[in-house]
Amino acid sequence: MKIDVLTLFPAMFAGPLDESIIRRARQAGLLELQIHNLRDHAHDRHKSVDDRPFGGGPGMLLKPEPIFEAVEHLAGQGARVVLLSPTGRQFNQAIASELAHVEHLILVTGHYEGFDERIRAHLADDELSIGDYVLTNGALPAMVVIDALARLIPGVLGDEASALDESFSRGLLEYPQYTRPAEFRGMKVPEVLLSGNHAEIAKWRAHEARLRTKQRRPDLLG
Ligand code: SAM
Repeated sequence: MKIDVLTLFPAMFAGPLDESIIRRARQAGLLELQIHNLRDHAHDRHKSVDDRPFGGGPGMLLKPEPIFEAVEHLAGQGARVVLLSPTGRQFNQAIASELAHVEHLILVTGHYEGFDERIRAHLADDELSIGDYVLTNGALPAMVVIDALARLIPGVLGDEASALDESFSRGLLEYPQYTRPAEFRGMKVPEVLLSGNHAEIAKWRAHEARLRTKQRRPDLLG
């Protein structure tokens, strides 16, 4: 899978996407990731990418010309163009797993007051928000989206089952998990997990996942 990111802050991406599972996915060629500076597509003397909003109001908006030019330069046939914006539909595990099967994704991140509406209306295929709060720019949201979808690209996780059997993948939160020691400071691991009875363990896990979801995220149960 190929992901291009358009940003005013390429340096923010160094680090988080160079570690652990994402680094290995990139090294294995499962994820091709390129970060592009939006300012490279600004052509005036000051390399300006923003301007004042028509009608007045605070702050500056990202102009259409540099973003249209950059996306048209990067997009081949079939690239999916996604804006990161608090006004987008809320990103979740289902969207991550849908995006993990896209061949070429272009993530467009904003800054200042956001985007000229023509970018949203005529260039983007989708618009995603990572939650009901406002960040200073779209670099962190883009990294959240990349991280969540990269681990769902076939072949990225060592054990494919781990992505199928975790929070949100079946509409539930994950069941409680334990590792050694079986007893720590008097706190014991539930007997059933030590029993070796796989049918009983599966039953216990299904029950606990449902209970935890009901207690913490009843909205997931519909
Ligand atoms: N004026 C915009 C509004 O009220 O919706 C907020 C702009 S925000 C300060 C600047 C940029 O940060 C946005 O264009 C977007 O790319 C990014 N951003 C901030 N919060 C976000 C969120 N919750 N989800 C996705 N992107 C976000």
